Amino acid sequence: MKKPLLLLTFLICLGQVYAQKMKPEDTEFWEPEPVVVTPGEGTAPPSDAIIIFDGTNLDNWENMKGEKAEWEVSDGAMTVVKGTGAIRSKVIYGDCQLHIEWRTPAEVKGKSQGRGNSGVFLQGIYEVQVLDSYENRTYSNGQAASIYKQSMPLVNACKPPGEWQTYDIIYKAPIFDEDGKLATPAYITVLHNGILVQNHYQIKGDTPYIGLPKYEAHGEGPLMLQDHGNPVSFRNIWLRKL
Ligand code: MG
Repeated sequence: MKKPLLLLTFLICLGQVYAQKMKPEDTEFWEPEPVVVTPGEGTAPPSDAIIIFDGTNLDNWENMKGEKAEWEVSDGAMTVVKGTGAIRSKVIYGDCQLHIEWRTPAEVKGKSQGRGNSGVFLQGIYEVQVLDSYENRTYSNGQAASIYKQSMPLVNACKPPGEWQTYDIIYKAPIFDEDGKLATPAYITVLHNGILVQNHYQIKGDTPYIGLPKYEAHGEGPLMLQDHGNPVSFRNIWLRKL
């Protein structure tokens, strides 16, 4: 047997002897202990969530000029009022777990990008598309649950128009160095109606309609919801900062 091989065999044997001598508690740790969070009943938020919209008012929101958000609130939901523009949360965040429910109009109008279009913009920049993608073909990286113009969803998990749908998003914010250069890109995991559609996707930058994605240094940012001219509704919006 060659010398290196002999040494390797010896080390493996030594490791096995040592492993046999270990006790169960040698591989346990007790500190720190995870904080207790109480799960919500049904679709209710967990105890440590920041509730951004509870169905009653838009106090936690503003328009893009920092003025009062003018979307309509009724029946526990908020709905885009065409022409009033996007709205953003007053809370800003970085890494997070986000829950949001949305509904495209029951009355089907338009096609492709013109049907039930809105968007969930992480940190106000990176769009997870909201669209009625139920029997409504459009470009794959622009359908519901796509990272707009970047990544199509793994599957089409859309419910029919008029039904409430959920996004559960795990988001890792990008990190920029002191010169504003990208050090670590953003990552996103999306579950659409409980089905995995984006699996730790590495975001390439912002999500423009025209042109290629790019990063520009930023800090914490709000949740932004898009006014694309269609009366899309949202409810039960909460996030947990990570
Ligand atoms: Mg959109």
